[in-house]
Amino acid sequence: MKIIMLGAPGAGKGTQAQMIASEKGIPHISTGDIFRANIKEGTDLGKEAKTYMDQGKLVPDELTVRILLDRVAKDDCKNGYVLDGFPRTIPQANVLDEELAKLNDHVDFAINVDVPDENIISRMSGRRACPKCGATYHVKHVPPKKEGICDKCGSELVLRDDDKPETVKKRLGVYHEQTQPLIEYYTGKGILRTVDGTVDPKDVYAAINEILAEV
Ligand code: ADP
Ligand code: ADP
Ligand code: ZN
Repeated sequence: MKIIMLGAPGAGKGTQAQMIASEKGIPHISTGDIFRANIKEGTDLGKEAKTYMDQGKLVPDELTVRILLDRVAKDDCKNGYVLDGFPRTIPQANVLDEELAKLNDHVDFAINVDVPDENIISRMSGRRACPKCGATYHVKHVPPKKEGICDKCGSELVLRDDDKPETVKKRLGVYHEQTQPLIEYYTGKGILRTVDGTVDPKDVYAAINEILAEV
């Protein structure tokens, strides 16, 4: 099963993608996590990506597509995957569709996690992320068992550099301009499904699970 998570920054794509991945036994692939891992390791890719990410801009399509196609070609992706944060532009979506078509394959669902802009800023300021395993928490809504520590791997949680309110506002603008058109794109392909992202994470997941049962 191949699933795409769509939604504004902070809509809960990562939270839901992790749940889907662990329930369905498929990898969770986040282009943001791949970039952050590269920044941490100090690679050339990381250095280039960081200049865009710090400004709340998208990393150029060419670079992003290359990273994503390398990742989905790996063995663990044979039975499918859940993409979180890719595609983010129409050209990225076109490349993915073309590459899958070459393999006689296709995306099953694009799940739009719908959260109004008003909710996003407060969600982001409370977001805490695990720099090691990519798990995300929220100080109020999704707290870890022990404050500041990842439940899954015991690492210390951090506030992401790009989750400052000014950068979040920019990212929301970029989302509306460059990523939101994908809703229409996948509606046209008949695979868009929308869930209410403002309810409790486990209720969001229940709605997604019903959709996935359609396959
Ligand atoms: P969020 O989950 O909050 O939306 P991500 O971790 O997905 O954030 O992305 C963080 C940043 O990484 C983005 O603001 C952008 O700069 C970069 N990025 C991630 N995925 C892509 C992509 N598919 N295309 C271009 N840039 C991306
Ligand atoms: P995205 O990957 O779309 O940027 P995340 O999954 O990282 O979003 O979620 C953004 C923030 O909101 C995190 O702090 C997360 O713990 C929290 N969160 C996720 N889902 C919900 C929800 N349904 N209700 C409240 N907070 C949520
Ligand atoms: Zn962790």
